[in-house]
Amino acid sequence: MKACSINVRRKEVLPLVREEVRRYGSELIDEIRAAGNVLHLPGLEIRLASAFGFCDGVQRAIEIAYATCHVMKGKRVWLIGEIIHNPEVNARLDALGMLHLPWNTDGEGYDHLTAEDVVIIPAFGISVKLRRMLEERGVQLVDSTCGNVVKVWQRVRSYAQRGITSIIHGKVRHEESMATASHSLGEDGRGRFLIIYNREDAQILCDYIRHKGNREQFLTHFSGCHSAGFDPDTDLMEIGMANQTTMLKGETAQLQQMLREAVRQRDGDDVRFHAYDTICGATQDRQQALLDLLDAAPDSMFIIGGYNSSNTSHLAQISAKRLPTYFVRDCDCLRNLEYAMVYNPEARCEERKPLPDKAADLCSTWRVGITAGASCPANIIEGVIRRIAELRGCVVA
Ligand code: SF4
Repeated sequence: MKACSINVRRKEVLPLVREEVRRYGSELIDEIRAAGNVLHLPGLEIRLASAFGFCDGVQRAIEIAYATCHVMKGKRVWLIGEIIHNPEVNARLDALGMLHLPWNTDGEGYDHLTAEDVVIIPAFGISVKLRRMLEERGVQLVDSTCGNVVKVWQRVRSYAQRGITSIIHGKVRHEESMATASHSLGEDGRGRFLIIYNREDAQILCDYIRHKGNREQFLTHFSGCHSAGFDPDTDLMEIGMANQTTMLKGETAQLQQMLREAVRQRDGDDVRFHAYDTICGATQDRQQALLDLLDAAPDSMFIIGGYNSSNTSHLAQISAKRLPTYFVRDCDCLRNLEYAMVYNPEARCEERKPLPDKAADLCSTWRVGITAGASCPANIIEGVIRRIAELRGCVVA
């Protein structure tokens, strides 16, 4: 039996959905935006980036999830993984009775599903294999995959069609990269891919393209990051880059340049190198807005978002290179003016980080910059602003 995607954003449920989504808004944030993104309080200046928080793709996915709960009342509604990487949003959906399926590439643990079940595909999509399996089971699919992610899939499928190996710049365990990798196998499943994460990976790949290098060492280094049967001696002859939509724009550009140069040195030209920037507009806007905010040189930067959010981690990385940076999940990470509980993306753990002396010095103005990832609701950002103000003894209307 074949399943088809259902449109749940129907006119009759939209008022209910908007009511649910309103909880993620913030009048305070709207007011700060209207005042030029700055809030002046006695001894405290809070400056927001010009672009931050929810992107259109996330907003749409959340609306779809809520709409499904209303339209499909009485049915079992399952969500694959998380709708987005934000704990508050996910907890609210749980409270509405949303059930969970593990995000994996092959659908293990899906045996109990029947045609009576409703399954929501998250914003970062699912693998081709998993989708086929769900379609064969005849479940009612509700697809919230972001259009920007679908564009990346189209790109890697076109590479596969032309016999080009996809080089995916992304995190190998991130749902979006895994889904993209599955699409790079193409219609006949014979396409190839290699996922690289950073400059070190790119350098190893470039060395191999130039001199072939040690095949065993190459395969060991990239173990788990390539298509089955990947042969670096033949599968790197023509390559095309694509990236996870939420990677660092500057880093992706650098890796593209390195790979283009390696192909040029090997072939004498770059005809067999293809690149297409698939970082989404929302990610780019948030990264650029952060760079602009860093130019204003606040004393401290707070980056707000879920710890497993890729785009938030990248904002934290950009900021940490220039200013004392605090990657916090919500206002509970701030309980005094001595330290904050922050996430360390490199060590992948939460840790205590001292706040600057200026935070506790009530005789001077503490200038705080704030931004948030694309999956962070405005009410969470408001909570952090209010907590900072409260700790400094300020009243926010
Ligand atoms: S961050 Fe970009 S790709 Fe991800 S949901 Fe938002 S708009 Fe879509």
